[in-house]
Amino acid sequence: MTSRWLWGAGLMGTLVCVFLAWRWWPQESRADAFAQDRVPAPAHQVPFDSQRALKDLSAICAIGTRVSGSAGMQKQQEMLEKHFKAQGLDVSFQRFQATRKSTRTTVEMANLIARINPEKQNRIILCTHYDTRPRADQETDRAKRDAPFLSANDGGSGVAFLMELARHAKSIKCVYGIDLVCFDGEEFVLDQEDDYFHGSRHFATRARLDAQRGIRYRCAVLLDMIAGKNPRFPIEQNSWFKAPRLVEEIYTTAIELKATSFQANKYSSTPVEDDHVPLNNGGIPAIDLIDFDYPHWHKMSDTPENCAPEGLDQVSRVLVAWMDRIR
Ligand SMILES: [Zn+2]
Repeated sequence: MTSRWLWGAGLMGTLVCVFLAWRWWPQESRADAFAQDRVPAPAHQVPFDSQRALKDLSAICAIGTRVSGSAGMQKQQEMLEKHFKAQGLDVSFQRFQATRKSTRTTVEMANLIARINPEKQNRIILCTHYDTRPRADQETDRAKRDAPFLSANDGGSGVAFLMELARHAKSIKCVYGIDLVCFDGEEFVLDQEDDYFHGSRHFATRARLDAQRGIRYRCAVLLDMIAGKNPRFPIEQNSWFKAPRLVEEIYTTAIELKATSFQANKYSSTPVEDDHVPLNNGGIPAIDLIDFDYPHWHKMSDTPENCAPEGLDQVSRVLVAWMDRIR
């Protein structure tokens, strides 16, 4: 009885000692093992060439203005269709009509969609608008307001970004299929009564029909004015209200990659109405990466000379890493 008691007490004591030793032993090795599966893997990247994207931007502007329904827009569509097809992407146009109320002008519009991995039913969207505003309404010199303007950063920069990204389509890692989308009719406006966002509203409506065929859009990232000099992308307020999870994913990635144009600690000075609003209203969580303090916005001076590679480069690094990680 006594020896059995002693044996039991000895075993108990040994177990207590083993537990205490484990509990208080220097913990580095366990901490390392714990941390290894929590430190994100190095961010996947592609050799995105922002200087080449700027050449694309110049080529887009060499067409001249690209107002919805104009010959310039048609030229741009032909150029982009050829370009995206040459990169092996599946290209289609969503065609529709839209009316400008103030002039009762109805024009043929078309969203361009270039698909990476078109067979995948679960998809994400990287988008921009590719029409230009009919007049430079922010010109301080009133005489210049009715003149056409190139809109290099406003519209052009997003398109140039998608053109360069498409060159790396095969190297991008993503469990989702990717739709590169150029919206028409973002700013087919002359007067206050005119509607914005014709293309994104049409896209959101069509997405509901696509859902019946099993196509699911996880989310969308809208790019607008990303190639200004020393660009700043604070968290756009409507994006935060409507798609906070996506904001967190993108800005966390930006912090990790030290993409300092992304200002994770600041909100935009005002909520921005842009193509991401109709997408959110249509059930697709969408955020807007926009440098709304670009000094040449809606002015004659929005030209390729006032654009720079920095923002294109940072946006590419953040989005490529983010696409690799999302599930
Ligand atoms: Zn604009």
